[in-house]
Amino acid sequence: MIKKIYAVLIFMLLFSFTFSSNIKDVRFNSYPPQVVLDLDESNPNYVTEYDENSRTLFVEVRGVNTPYNKSVTNKLSKYLESVQEYKYDRSHGFFLKLQKNIFHKVSIRRSPNRLVIDLSRNATNKQYTVVIDPGHGGKDTGAIGSKNLREKDVVLSIGKYLRDELKSDFNVVMTRDTDEFISLKNRSNIANRIGADIYVSIHANSSNSSAHNGMEIFYFSKKSSPYAASIARYENSFGEKYGENTSSIVQIAGEIAYNKNQEKSIPFADSLTKNLSKTMGMKNRGIHGANFAVLRGINCPGVLIEVGFIKSPKDSSIISSRSHQKKMAKKIAEHIRNYFY
Ligand SMILES: [Zn+2]
Repeated sequence: MIKKIYAVLIFMLLFSFTFSSNIKDVRFNSYPPQVVLDLDESNPNYVTEYDENSRTLFVEVRGVNTPYNKSVTNKLSKYLESVQEYKYDRSHGFFLKLQKNIFHKVSIRRSPNRLVIDLSRNATNKQYTVVIDPGHGGKDTGAIGSKNLREKDVVLSIGKYLRDELKSDFNVVMTRDTDEFISLKNRSNIANRIGADIYVSIHANSSNSSAHNGMEIFYFSKKSSPYAASIARYENSFGEKYGENTSSIVQIAGEIAYNKNQEKSIPFADSLTKNLSKTMGMKNRGIHGANFAVLRGINCPGVLIEVGFIKSPKDSSIISSRSHQKKMAKKIAEHIRNYFY
């Protein structure tokens, strides 16, 4: 019997050490409005309860080994009437009294590990806006592959699948969701008008050689390699072909934002190209910075995915298949989710 009790005690001790989750910092973000508890554990032991009557949200982190001792003051008074701490044994909790008509959502996010309490004035609580930009459309077919496979159709289909994957968690705006012509300038205007958080442009590559295959992802850069510049020139040429002076699309982001957007776009593009090519069984042609007119005009992080070479028999059989398009959209959506959460 005693042995059994010891075994239980040892188990409990091990359990509490394994599942300890210390609060490293408590932050109040104003945009988007959030209370963030930075944690040292990716799977923290926590509880959360909300009482409608008192509009009080209780969030408690359990298994705290090292107490967080800095004072916590409410810096989101437009959303929170009051913030009260509660410490007991190895638990550290917060009573957050919400202002009237404020909605909340509690989630665990990783890299860095944190518990996030999103606060908003609308019930949908979708904090982020993703703009999906299927390239070309209407009179602009984009590149044309074998069996008359058209870039504009492939990228629209992938774009719509991507929208379906994301719409439950994000505000999703498409620059086009039908077969219509949209100028490059209007595409970036759409993103800027609604304050996009990320911009994902979808294209397919063209090459006169059917031997070229694989996918690659571009981000906006004023400097580029000769290869990346040639791809940007090619995509920009469609704008020119349909009467648009693409050099009149100016870089909208100031220098600080330009660097910040690039800092965010590069790791996103890098992990996406690695995982997406692997998932699709396609060659990974890496990431490149280039001066794409459509990316130059936006004021947020953004990427342009060249999903494959439309003239390559291998790539075209993948990117023209509905099930593969869906698979691709699912993977891109997963990366967008990881990017934000
Ligand atoms: Zn294109």
